[in-house]
Amino acid sequence: MLKFCAYYVVLMLLGELVNILNKVRKTHSRDEKVVIVADFLRNLDEDDLRDVIKLISGNIGKLNISWGTIAKAVGLSHGEDIGEMVERSLSGKKRQQSLVEEAVTVKELMNLFAYLRTLKGKGSAERKIALIQSLFRRLSPEEANFVARCITGEMRMGLSTGLLIEAIARAFGKGDLRKAYTVVGDISELALMAKRGILQVSPRLFFPISPMLAESCYSVDDAIKEMGIAAFEYKLDGVRVQVHKDGGRIKMFSRRLTDITDRFRVELDLKCESCIAEGEIIGLGLDGRPVPFQVLMRKADIKKEILFFDIIYLDGRNLLDIPYQERRKMLEEVSDKLVPRIITDDPRKAEEFLKEAVEEGHEGLMAKKLNSPYQAGIRGRYWLKIKPGLEKLDLVIVGADWGYGRRNRWLSDYYLAAYNEEKGDFEIVGKTFKGLTDEEFERMTSWLSSIAVKEEGKTVWVKPEVVVEVAYDEIQRSPKYKSGFALRFARITAIREDKSPRDADTISKIRRIYEAQFSRKSAKW
Ligand code: AMP
Repeated sequence: MLKFCAYYVVLMLLGELVNILNKVRKTHSRDEKVVIVADFLRNLDEDDLRDVIKLISGNIGKLNISWGTIAKAVGLSHGEDIGEMVERSLSGKKRQQSLVEEAVTVKELMNLFAYLRTLKGKGSAERKIALIQSLFRRLSPEEANFVARCITGEMRMGLSTGLLIEAIARAFGKGDLRKAYTVVGDISELALMAKRGILQVSPRLFFPISPMLAESCYSVDDAIKEMGIAAFEYKLDGVRVQVHKDGGRIKMFSRRLTDITDRFRVELDLKCESCIAEGEIIGLGLDGRPVPFQVLMRKADIKKEILFFDIIYLDGRNLLDIPYQERRKMLEEVSDKLVPRIITDDPRKAEEFLKEAVEEGHEGLMAKKLNSPYQAGIRGRYWLKIKPGLEKLDLVIVGADWGYGRRNRWLSDYYLAAYNEEKGDFEIVGKTFKGLTDEEFERMTSWLSSIAVKEEGKTVWVKPEVVVEVAYDEIQRSPKYKSGFALRFARITAIREDKSPRDADTISKIRRIYEAQFSRKSAKW
């Protein structure tokens, strides 16, 4: 009996996980959802805990299997919600296995995903279809629904990252784990640490931590009113990097926490044994002036340099809670390549500095509160970004229409969405086909096709993954979209491959800009 129990515990069945998720889905109270998930996680062994968290947080790596491949595997060819489609197509057919031993386990599913990731090149599509087919034959319709969502990354389980973090904290008797998560960066790793009782919230070399982010602010005046005396740094328009150095080993990570060491060749002269420093890589034109972000990303041979603005770890010391000003002093010891800055509480001086930054071709200024800690993963008001002109938005493409005429080969009319924090979902705020080159339309078409989740007439709905920077003339109130807002004359100004949907702007920010449009207009008429 004992032996059976041990065996049973090690090989957790996929069906058990799916049952729990269904239970969560049917529960309305957030607190109850947390309790159900926590009770489930608490009893898992380490392997299952890691795998389960990876599965439910949609963190299983890129399988490169599209909606179309799954549709083929279940013998269907046209579109609707992938999970429901698979579930319906299998319901009615009896699952082919009956003995418990033959049911698919979580481990087995993860092994299959790992194998699918290795399949590339000629014949791989057929092989993938065959493997998915034989897997589906062994699944109940509900399990197949879940697996189809895992594969396409369409994981709407009603389980946000926030809820999962709370459930982990509750399962293992920890307090608030949100801060630990921003430093650890990986939610399954966080769960393992919580289970083992070792929660290290210090940065670790070669494990990127979520970057600290800035809120918007309209003017240096507003920034000084809010912060008092503050540091004003140039806001550079480039690619943010987190550089990890240990002796001769150096790696660079993007703000999406991916390793981009080989992507950009820049001189990194850090005078320390080990450190984690943050900076921005910019491209320089022949006249030495910074080039636009798009050019930096497109032209491999452009001259590049990195300018540092923060340091969060130095020779074994965690600097996260050290005030900004002291961190900056340490950074000055470590590198000569720093972002220009002044410290002032005089709005005229700050305004002058802003003008200089813009004249030199930079985006604006970043105001930083002198005694602020480094808040990993948090967009707070310790850093305020000041950009002259109407601020661009980072939006996520959630769907696209096939174009007309010359653009008919491309998915080229994009639905742009902002994140609604209250609903935990992306909501459309505009649509545009403006701003991309033919080459970019081509690339976007294959990118979007690979993350498609549903087709409806000429529209392909996709997993929210692609972030674009969008300029517009005005934000209007509009009943056209559920969000209640619509951007007037939206156009894409950059494809932000360096940003993840988590970096997207929010509906509440759009509401703020919308309201500010009026406060800045004349009230006299
Ligand atoms: P945004 O992408 O508009 O939210 O602005 C935040 C980004 O500005 C950061 O992620 C950095 O890539 C970039 N940035 C440019 N200059 C600075 C600076 N001096 N300090 C911090 N971030 C900066």
